[in-house]
Amino acid sequence: MTDTKLIAILPGDGIGPEVTAEARRVLEAMALPLSFEEAPVGGAAYRASGHPLPDETLALAKRADAILFGAVGDPAFDGLERSLRPEQAILGLRKHLATFANLRPARIFAGLEDASTLKPEVARAIDLVIVRELNGDVYFGEKGRRTTDAGLREGHDLMRYDESEVRRIAHIGFQTAAKRRGKLCSVDKANVLETSQLWRDVVIEVAAEYPQVELTHMYVDNAAMQLVRNPGAFDTIVTGNLFGDILSDQASMCVGSIGMLPSASLDADAKGLYEPIHGSAPDIAGQGKANPCAAILSAAMMLRHSLAMSDPADRIEAAVAAALATGVRTPDLGGTASTRAMGDAVLAAL
Ligand code: ATP
Ligand code: MG
Repeated sequence: MTDTKLIAILPGDGIGPEVTAEARRVLEAMALPLSFEEAPVGGAAYRASGHPLPDETLALAKRADAILFGAVGDPAFDGLERSLRPEQAILGLRKHLATFANLRPARIFAGLEDASTLKPEVARAIDLVIVRELNGDVYFGEKGRRTTDAGLREGHDLMRYDESEVRRIAHIGFQTAAKRRGKLCSVDKANVLETSQLWRDVVIEVAAEYPQVELTHMYVDNAAMQLVRNPGAFDTIVTGNLFGDILSDQASMCVGSIGMLPSASLDADAKGLYEPIHGSAPDIAGQGKANPCAAILSAAMMLRHSLAMSDPADRIEAAVAAALATGVRTPDLGGTASTRAMGDAVLAAL
């Protein structure tokens, strides 16, 4: 008897519920040993219970074998104090679950070259993964504001990493590259930053354990340029929290739409939280226009990385490719299909 795995579905705000509904339909259609439980998060949870990450939602996330997350963010709550805003829910989840490794694959599906901002022949070659560190860096260092002796307002955010934090993400980078084309590019700013020099030293030490992986180093400014000049040259990129945030949004436009990019956030045991890289998109919420592919592809990553179900993951990815090949496109990709119609096309291809 196979034991049933529990999936926590946290749809969230805006288009989150619309796209996670399609991902759930796809998972349910595959008749896998999965059970689903939903809980509110973000603005939806604040409305219901006065907190963006209620205790019951956090408890479900901890109890589940994997989490499928939609998006959080609701302009109606912009005026709230920071700890009550919808966005705090995802930061809180990442912290409580200790998900330190964020995997963001970017590849172009056949036929979407015309939606890329790059020339078709450049876009066609993109098949890369950004491995972004998620629990450190300038996001979590000491922060503050003060007034200087000269009476000027000053702000600071401390960029810091210790070697254990770099080492564990470096291992994920090398392991990811080893399963792919065997090329790891470590991105830093070691010509200027102490944190980056430490980063580079530790990555080089870890490299000794992965002789099959070819390691290169690149400064982040050059990496940003190469990503639009020759993205096909990248296989796996490993980088810190801030640089990874920026480079992965940049990569999303190279593959046609932010609505195509899934992500996985993994802890030390590969228990994970899976979400599209896009946000709650309040501008198109409730209109049935959102592209559900990023959410569906996030569900595929969940099967592969947290549930050891690689074959069904491959089948979902192939079904997305096949659905797009039939010409079904949501508006972000230049088409007129609704969220539901895109989901239907993926189900039909399955
Ligand atoms: P966050 O801060 O949560 O990352 P954001 O402000 O960066 O959010 P998004 O919510 O990601 O913004 O939306 C950015 C733009 O991309 C919006 O114009 C939105 O409509 C569009 N967009 C985002 N996701 C999708 C999707 N799945 N399908 C179509 N368009 C999308
Ligand atoms: Mg964003």
